Amino acid sequence: MSKPAPVFDVAAVRRDFPILEQEINGRAMVYLDSAASSQKPRPVIDTISAFYLTDNANVHRGLYELSRRATERFEAARRTMASFLNAGHEREVVWVRGATEAINLVAATWGAANLKPGDEVILTCLEHHSNIVPWQLVAQRTGAVLRYVDIDDQGRLRLDHLDQLLSARTRLMACGHVSNALGTINPIAEIARRVHAVGALLLVDGAQGAPHVRVDVQALDCDFYAVSGHKMCGPMGIGVLWGRRELLEAMPPYQGGGEMIDQVLPEASTWAAVPHKFEAGTPDVAGAVGMAAAADYLAAIGHEAMAAQEQQLIRHAQRALGNVPGVRVFGPVDPAERIAVFSFELAGVHPHDVATILDAEGIAVRAGHHCAQILMRRLQVPATTRASAYIYNTPDDFDRLAAALEVVRTVFA
Ligand code: PLP
Repeated sequence: MSKPAPVFDVAAVRRDFPILEQEINGRAMVYLDSAASSQKPRPVIDTISAFYLTDNANVHRGLYELSRRATERFEAARRTMASFLNAGHEREVVWVRGATEAINLVAATWGAANLKPGDEVILTCLEHHSNIVPWQLVAQRTGAVLRYVDIDDQGRLRLDHLDQLLSARTRLMACGHVSNALGTINPIAEIARRVHAVGALLLVDGAQGAPHVRVDVQALDCDFYAVSGHKMCGPMGIGVLWGRRELLEAMPPYQGGGEMIDQVLPEASTWAAVPHKFEAGTPDVAGAVGMAAAADYLAAIGHEAMAAQEQQLIRHAQRALGNVPGVRVFGPVDPAERIAVFSFELAGVHPHDVATILDAEGIAVRAGHHCAQILMRRLQVPATTRASAYIYNTPDDFDRLAAALEVVRTVFA
């Protein structure tokens, strides 16, 4: 099989990820589980350790040099994320623990303040549980009703079904930018146009979007965008909620505590300005600095180069997997409509057995429902095996995967 020329130097990128240079079960490791969590490059690890070695102190409190420096690093990281997302203003960037917390924040605060019985929130059957359960919780509290947009036989959202669901009752749609289970890239700007036409808001779960696709929240014209640090080469436990400033300003706080207040009086308090109104307690400053370093790392490679590289990898992976008898890959066929996340079934073999044998071959993949049980039900499968690639993966990794799937077939023949 011919190997396409890379559009950036993958070998150089791989050298930034020492974790990849190890053997698992006596074989050079192939890491194909980046949709669950990406690996971290040396510049990100070094930035976090340098922060603790030289700049660590609590932020927004001290009148001394070290605290001023930590605060400046923290707020500079916010500016980096604002520019990564092309936000209109850095005050629109709220630090959170990850995409899950970003969505919970909006569901709990905006939802509680704005949803009433009979109002509708539109989700899709592609969503990760993080973009379903928070809405179920707020729907149970407010009497709002959830609706789900269906997919076609390639796992693409059916915009004709969205049009049927949209109405004067719709208050918000919450939709993933990219499906973690099928790799489908959703047409967010188009969805935003339709959602806004009925006067509703659009929240985008960008946990899988930000690592792979250039994100411009202004061009996407969404109202909220949730990002996870650990899926885009940053640390775990940090993420960003971007929201339109006027919406964030109108929303009640999420958690109460230090940092988020203006005045605390015996019976009630007043709030700090956004984004600090939503950042109660000591934040993960090193995490924020590390996430900004990850954004800088990806920006240095360049989103166009990343996307072009990924398109080549997808084509190669489709050929490699397509050559294994009994493999059925879910999701869009056209590489332009997907990222390099491949959920598949191997006829007659349970995904857990597939993953166990792949592990013995040194290949890390995920098997299960991928936190997308609504989607699994829609696909009428209990689970799938998922191989998900990122900037450090090569065509060889998919050749190794295809060869190991032949081993699985032999074992279960
Ligand atoms: N949304 C999607 C599409 C995801 O893939 C994930 C993680 O698997 C999440 C949300 C949750 O993100 P986090 O781990 O940052 O809470």
